[in-house]
Amino acid sequence: MMSTYRIHGATGEWEVVIGLEVHAQVTSNAKLFSGAATAFGAEPNAQVSLVDAAMPGMLPVLNRECIRQAVRTGMAIEAQINRWSRFDRKNYFYADLPQGYQISQLYHPLVGEGSLAIEADEKAGIAEDKLIGIERIHVEQDAGKLMHDQHPTMSYVDLNRSGVALMEIVSRPDMASPAEAGAYLRKLRAILRYVGSCDGNMEEGSMRADVNVSVRKAGEPLGTRTETKNVNSVRFVMQAIEHEARRQVEVLEDGGRIVQETRLFDPGSGTTRSMRSKEDAHDYRYFPDPDLLPLELDQAFLDECRASLPELPDAKRRRYESELGLSSYNAAVLTAEVETARWFEALLLASATAQGKPPAELAKQAANWLISELFGALNKAGHALEDSPVTPERGAELLALVGKGTISGSIAKQVLETMLETGDAPAAIVEREGLVQESDTGAIEAAVDEVLAANPEKLAEYRGGKDKLFGFFVGQVMRAMSGKANPQVINEVLKRRLG
Ligand code: ADP
Ligand code: MG
Repeated sequence: MMSTYRIHGATGEWEVVIGLEVHAQVTSNAKLFSGAATAFGAEPNAQVSLVDAAMPGMLPVLNRECIRQAVRTGMAIEAQINRWSRFDRKNYFYADLPQGYQISQLYHPLVGEGSLAIEADEKAGIAEDKLIGIERIHVEQDAGKLMHDQHPTMSYVDLNRSGVALMEIVSRPDMASPAEAGAYLRKLRAILRYVGSCDGNMEEGSMRADVNVSVRKAGEPLGTRTETKNVNSVRFVMQAIEHEARRQVEVLEDGGRIVQETRLFDPGSGTTRSMRSKEDAHDYRYFPDPDLLPLELDQAFLDECRASLPELPDAKRRRYESELGLSSYNAAVLTAEVETARWFEALLLASATAQGKPPAELAKQAANWLISELFGALNKAGHALEDSPVTPERGAELLALVGKGTISGSIAKQVLETMLETGDAPAAIVEREGLVQESDTGAIEAAVDEVLAANPEKLAEYRGGKDKLFGFFVGQVMRAMSGKANPQVINEVLKRRLG
């Protein structure tokens, strides 16, 4: 039995309560209210329109595609889509915010109540499947970026990100351990990538999390939380929770109290430190943005959003199990990332064509090869699946050679390594290196006879009842034939000769 996550303090056990606010950059060519481009890595201030720079008299024009992506995301977490929503101004002064306010949605968000399922994971310490509530998704503008270390006496501002569309995805305080928070983030990122509404790239900042943590004794009401801002990797989020929960337990057990405050995570030390307390937080003076009409969605728009949704990871995983007969482990591995699922489906389709068999018949072979052979070889060569030198079509050609008995499974491993190095077609490699499997009974019989003649003692032992030696003979024959003999034929011939 697995135990629930607890912090063991001096006064007993503490539960941890976690809620995440994830900022996900919407995948779109243009910003939320302007036509400026959003590509990552551009020269500073190369993607700034007059609207983003807040020039007087400029008016925001809502980008339909950003709304579409947020609605599709809401549908993917089975959330309520609000057909009427509204943009509000959140007023504050900061040098990276030329407007003096951020356009956001406080009172009437685009997406309401939804949820996300995380799976039991014994290794990670998640005892059972769990549904994490999602309170809302609202759409808002990103701010610019200050650059402090470029000049001894000056700071710069890069407004490329100013006005880029973000989805803020707010969870309920439903997570109870760092592992659950990690699983939630990975699942959310997978869904965003399947949907195509955010690239989920945490290193580039297109997905970042504000981590709300509190602790309590079992059965007590929710404790006061702290919020650690802008944490930009799954591992860091888990570390921040671990550290923050322990810190809170120490403070409380020392007779102190937790103040609701904003904290910063330091990746170097894995710790959090106070940034500002919520008690002296700004009053943002939210009010409806007078430059924008309320947003009303019609049925045709919603229908198109729904129709454009792809098969999502959970549904795909279930289908791989039921339709393709894959193990739940393999189905989970293949659907965890959309790129993996796409690769697998392309491999399966090409295999079915190459071998003239229905996909369901080839799925196990293809899944096992992808997971144990290709992943292993790519890892060794330092490649990700996305930049694999072996395409799904080439993989299917290799599997077809095994399926037809042209090469053995062990030779296939060797051929795969050469394919990764040279990019050549498997048939060409097999031909060039003379790797065709020998299935000719005559040649194999000759090798068997040689091996038996060369090992009279072993033969006597075998005849005396040492059955295990059968494997030894198979190995010797295989060696005599440089690994190229058809193992099934070796087995048959040996049985005949020994039996
Ligand atoms: P605010 O309006 O102050 O931002 P919210 O109610 O919107 O507060 O909550 C923000 C986030 O904090 C949500 O993700 C929520 O799940 C989480 N949260 C709220 N209360 C707690 C708590 N006691 N412990 C941990 N997380 C919490
Ligand atoms: Mg909030």
